[in-house]
Amino acid sequence: MASLLQCVSIPRSGHHFLIKLLRAYFNDRSTNTQRMTYCEFYHCCKTRPCRLYDSEFPSSHARVHVQKSHDEFLRRRDKEHEPPFEISNQGKHLVQFRHPIPSTISEFIMVNKKLRERQKNEDATIERECAESNPIPPPTVADWLLFSTRDLEYRNRFLEKWILRNPWVESDQYFFLNYDHLLAHPHETLCEVIRFARPDEIVNPSRVEAALAKRSVKPKRNPQKFEFASTLDEFEPLCADIWKACKEKLKMNR
Ligand SMILES: [Zn+2]
Repeated sequence: MASLLQCVSIPRSGHHFLIKLLRAYFNDRSTNTQRMTYCEFYHCCKTRPCRLYDSEFPSSHARVHVQKSHDEFLRRRDKEHEPPFEISNQGKHLVQFRHPIPSTISEFIMVNKKLRERQKNEDATIERECAESNPIPPPTVADWLLFSTRDLEYRNRFLEKWILRNPWVESDQYFFLNYDHLLAHPHETLCEVIRFARPDEIVNPSRVEAALAKRSVKPKRNPQKFEFASTLDEFEPLCADIWKACKEKLKMNR
């Protein structure tokens, strides 16, 4: 029987990096061994727990089934988009989080990059059809302020729900992973997450090394180098207390 790992993460808090490491560790293309399967929720079953895990679990070899969620309900408060992901002590939860300001900056940069890439592809189609294209202007400070106000609110709500109001913070069914810790200690963290997902797993050091060798840690972006960094002073007070309380609750000394 595979373990089900519910992964709840703030966007841009290292989820994809961690998943790539776990896939590289558990799965082996050369022997076609798939010991980890993954449900993206939004592009998969949109059910919880994952329908694939529940009934038609695809591989008898799989030992871990990871299901992702950003708890988007907290952002949109829209039941149609995603039903509320209730906190429970049933099953394992991996909560990935990050300070709201750098994660919001990262999301803003990514969203704008994607917009431009989409525009580029559309332009190529329009050019072929000989019509005029209208390039998207670069983001303005007003775009950033609108985006960041909404996004910071969602991220604060996420931290409040999953850390500050979570009665199971001390439970061994929960693993809280700060993005900064993942980046600073990828080796140690990967071993801990493997053991958390599969307590009976004897961690294979050479597979851990190989997984890390394939995925180098990108240098962290300095928020002060962000083009709208001059606005950050007014955002700091909006999340300073929540962040401090989270650090205290999780006994983070970093
Ligand atoms: Zn699924």
